[in-house]
Amino acid sequence: MCNAHIIDKIKSSGRPVHAAAAKGDPDGAPSSVSFGERQDIPVSFSRVVDLTHRLTPDFPSFFGPAFETETVRTFEKDGFNLQRISYYEHVGTHFDAPIHYSEEGNTIDEVPVEELVCPLAVIDIRAKAIKDPDYRLSLDDIAAFEHEHGTIPKGACVAMFSGWESYIGTEKFRGEDSEGTLHFPGFHGDVAEFLIADRDVCGAVVDTMSLDYGCSTEFPFHYQWLPSGRYGIENVANLGALPPIGATLIGGAPKFQGCTGGPGRVIALV
Ligand SMILES: [Zn+2]
Repeated sequence: MCNAHIIDKIKSSGRPVHAAAAKGDPDGAPSSVSFGERQDIPVSFSRVVDLTHRLTPDFPSFFGPAFETETVRTFEKDGFNLQRISYYEHVGTHFDAPIHYSEEGNTIDEVPVEELVCPLAVIDIRAKAIKDPDYRLSLDDIAAFEHEHGTIPKGACVAMFSGWESYIGTEKFRGEDSEGTLHFPGFHGDVAEFLIADRDVCGAVVDTMSLDYGCSTEFPFHYQWLPSGRYGIENVANLGALPPIGATLIGGAPKFQGCTGGPGRVIALV
């Protein structure tokens, strides 16, 4: 499976290859956005669901503390409070930009804003994940989901709902074994090509630390998904509050120039 193959398929489907043809506005000027072929998406909603975890310094991560703060000014001395914060880009509920696993994909500030608002399909694999922390969402899981809820719409985001957020605060969330290998669910590598070429969805979402499962060493999902110009969102919360289909995702991706991703506010409208 090669990326050139996927890109050719996307080109023939008429969808732009984002890395080359659909850069967002790098100057940060407000842009008016058309939903184009997705303009018939309903915009009414009755509930707002926060899919974002509170980011604490001890939130599970790959590289030590999730963030560190330094006091720069205090109200008592200076009349206002100000801190300087530092963190790795991929902490907490956060976005993976295409450049994270590709040579020349979009950076996070270049992800087209219209792709950050989209229908959300939530695939519940909790029953399988609870029995096997190395479970990967499979093509069979997608077939079963579509049998019940209909075809995943073009331009949607697909979320893996493993129930893993209930383990935050415990060792099980990272699932690190005595050899240092992590164990948590993710997307199977085979699913990437299907969701790209056959469903043309724009984002992949997980309630674990990574799009690929914890013990992956090759990261096949990342290496197909992100180079195709698509983004990921990891460590999301509250997927259980959403219907399998019908919610609208609003991905508040950060807009730091040149960055490979970063924590942001992720919201769903139901
Ligand atoms: Zn990431």
